[in-house]
Amino acid sequence: MEEVDFIIVGQGLAGTLLAHQLLKNDKRILVFDPGKENAATHVAAGIINPVTGRRYVKSWRIDELLPFAKKTYLELEQLLDISIYHPRQIIRTLFNAREENDWLLRTAEPGYIPYLSDSSELGEYEASTEPAYNYGEIRHSAQVNISKLSTSFGEMLSQKGMLKRDAFDFNELVFEDKLLYKGYHAKMIVFCEGSQAVNNPFFNYLPFRGAKGEVLIVKIQNAEFEKILKHRIFIVPLENDTYWIGSTYDWNYENELPTQKGAEYLTERLSEVLKLPFEIIRHVAAIRPTVKDRRPFLGVHPDFPRLGIFNGLGTKGASLGPYWAKHMTEFLLNNAPLDDEVNILRF
Ligand SMILES: Cc1cc2nc3c(=O)[nH]c(=O)nc-3n(C[C@H](O)[C@H](O)[C@H](O)COP(=O)(O)OP(=O)(O)OC[C@H]3O[C@@H](n4cnc5c(N)ncnc54)[C@H](O)[C@@H]3O)c2cc1C
Repeated sequence: MEEVDFIIVGQGLAGTLLAHQLLKNDKRILVFDPGKENAATHVAAGIINPVTGRRYVKSWRIDELLPFAKKTYLELEQLLDISIYHPRQIIRTLFNAREENDWLLRTAEPGYIPYLSDSSELGEYEASTEPAYNYGEIRHSAQVNISKLSTSFGEMLSQKGMLKRDAFDFNELVFEDKLLYKGYHAKMIVFCEGSQAVNNPFFNYLPFRGAKGEVLIVKIQNAEFEKILKHRIFIVPLENDTYWIGSTYDWNYENELPTQKGAEYLTERLSEVLKLPFEIIRHVAAIRPTVKDRRPFLGVHPDFPRLGIFNGLGTKGASLGPYWAKHMTEFLLNNAPLDDEVNILRF
């Protein structure tokens, strides 16, 4: 029988970041993930956007989350010898005088000064997109290649014999002094299954509310956009003249497959703004692990304290993930209290 400290179920962004923190603390871990291609982590743009929404409001706790996220991704870049963290300003289209006015009022507010600029540099977008009423620019924003992070971290785990390419089977779990699962003894299991947590018999009582998102990956020759443009949809630079175009939000979906309606919506929005021709290379969809009160799910099961959960990263995993993975680790290893806002005991 092999002994581990933690079994982690799911190695999307949440499982990856939690595994990283536990390994930093010299814990013995075993991770299960069948390698779902359309997990949210592999479809997301990974944008870190400190000011969002129609009212240009700072993201929840962004002042704490942002520096910690940057530090963690840079650390993982070193560890895995990859490039994933790309600081990129976001240009936000302001469609009318009211939006411009609201934006300018925000730029003058003390907590917003570091993040918002009252003038914007469109760069290469100037020549290649339809002009709009005005633009604002968001600073300290970034794009993190979370798919590459998860893949590369998975390869590292695999080399160390810490990753099983299997779906966790709840019928095989036995509760003894320790937890017994397929020949392994573990002190604890932490579930990081993203939107698939609705199939978890221990945690499906939590108010998950998945949101489907569709995305196009397009090629735009010689556009050379470097910033992110938000003009109803996001245009996000990837590599080799390719761009991430997204995304849709759908709370009443039948399945997780891309739809013709989604492709048409994104194609129309892109055609409205882009003057250059583009070629659709891929059309993909995934379910975001969104939750009712938009706060992550951290903690242990009220009746089975050896079963934990780290989930609910919703639409903002890239900024939320690193900080809350560390918080969860301190709770698991040092019994540090969980923040009430993220503790699943709030339900
Ligand atoms: C279209 C779209 C755009 C997005 N854009 C952004 C963005 O720009 N910025 C941002 O911050 N966030 C964005 N997100 C959200 C982001 O993707 C998520 O917050 C984050 O990736 C969630 O990670 P996760 O690990 O919780 O879930 P997932 O990525 O879904 O990973 C869950 C993993 O668990 C595994 N799993 C599930 N069940 C089992 C089981 N029984 N046994 C073993 N393994 C299991 C799956 O195979 C999967 O690999 C976007 C999401 C979508 C869909």
